[in-house]
Amino acid sequence: AKDTGGGAHCRFEPALHASAEERRRLEASLRQAILSDEFVLHYQPVVDARSEKIVSFEALVRWNSPEHGFVSPGKFIPLAEDTRLIVPIGRWVLQQACMEARAWPEHVKVNVNVSPEQLLEPHFHEEVIEALATSGLRPERLEVEVTESIFVRDATTARNSLEQIMALGCSVALDDFGTGYSSLGYLRTLRFSTIKVDRSFVQGAAQKSNESLAIINAVVAMAKSLDMTTTAEGVETPEEAELIRNLGCDKIQGFYFGRPMVKEDARRLFKRHTRQ
Ligand code: C2E
Ligand code: CA
Ligand code: CA
Ligand code: CA
Repeated sequence: AKDTGGGAHCRFEPALHASAEERRRLEASLRQAILSDEFVLHYQPVVDARSEKIVSFEALVRWNSPEHGFVSPGKFIPLAEDTRLIVPIGRWVLQQACMEARAWPEHVKVNVNVSPEQLLEPHFHEEVIEALATSGLRPERLEVEVTESIFVRDATTARNSLEQIMALGCSVALDDFGTGYSSLGYLRTLRFSTIKVDRSFVQGAAQKSNESLAIINAVVAMAKSLDMTTTAEGVETPEEAELIRNLGCDKIQGFYFGRPMVKEDARRLFKRHTRQ
């Protein structure tokens, strides 16, 4: 598979195993979906490991298709990447996320996933500038999430594009860390703000896998010495939250603190938090 990012297997399988005919139908309706505005963003809270206060929301796209029903991103993002439809879809996601985040408290960031196909487009950073300008969101409130696979594809272009985004004042998180094939070389020169420890390590650690524990420990130590923070993904229980906190991760994301939710629920969550 060309994708080396997290969950590469479960992400690619549906698209790979679908028949050519099925893929053509899906592609046609995906193309139509862009025109008829069938996408919606859900938001999942990211909390500070110690205070458990919300520091950010990750925007996760959903496709509400009249023909196929509710399609999960695991099913259509791989196809969108293959067909480059991810470029217009991703542009919509970026603009929508910045606009919606504008209504949140000032200290809460928004995390937006960016596919290699988007990042490697010439002038991708201009789309970021435009999304910030039209929404009025401060650049410091936007964190772009990329996976290590960008460095396998075209390291020079990826690096330039990320540096341009960082120069705007936005931060960049390295998503699904530890699941790609990439070397660590780029960590020496690119100033990621956050390393997101993939859910597979969190689940492994919860099942008392010494290897997973050792890897999380090592990633946390490495991030600290590089002046980066860590976010643990896929924390589902209070025991896992406690374990992750003890391992020294800075931030936690997962079903335990909140599933991806519609924007109205995200805003209600703020109200509850600020009343405390
Ligand atoms: P991701 O970036 O790693 O996002 C986290 C995924 O893990 C989300 O799945 C989320 O619902 C799920 N998750 C969060 N907490 C837990 C947990 O405690 N347990 C379990 N089992 N799962 C948890 P989702 O929303 O289905 O998204 C899947 C993937 O699709 C994302 O993985 C990301 O790679 C991609 N994706 C989603 N939205 C976008 C987008 O706007 N643009 C791009 N390029 N990719 C996107
Ligand atoms: Ca993932
Ligand atoms: Ca992500
Ligand atoms: Ca992730």
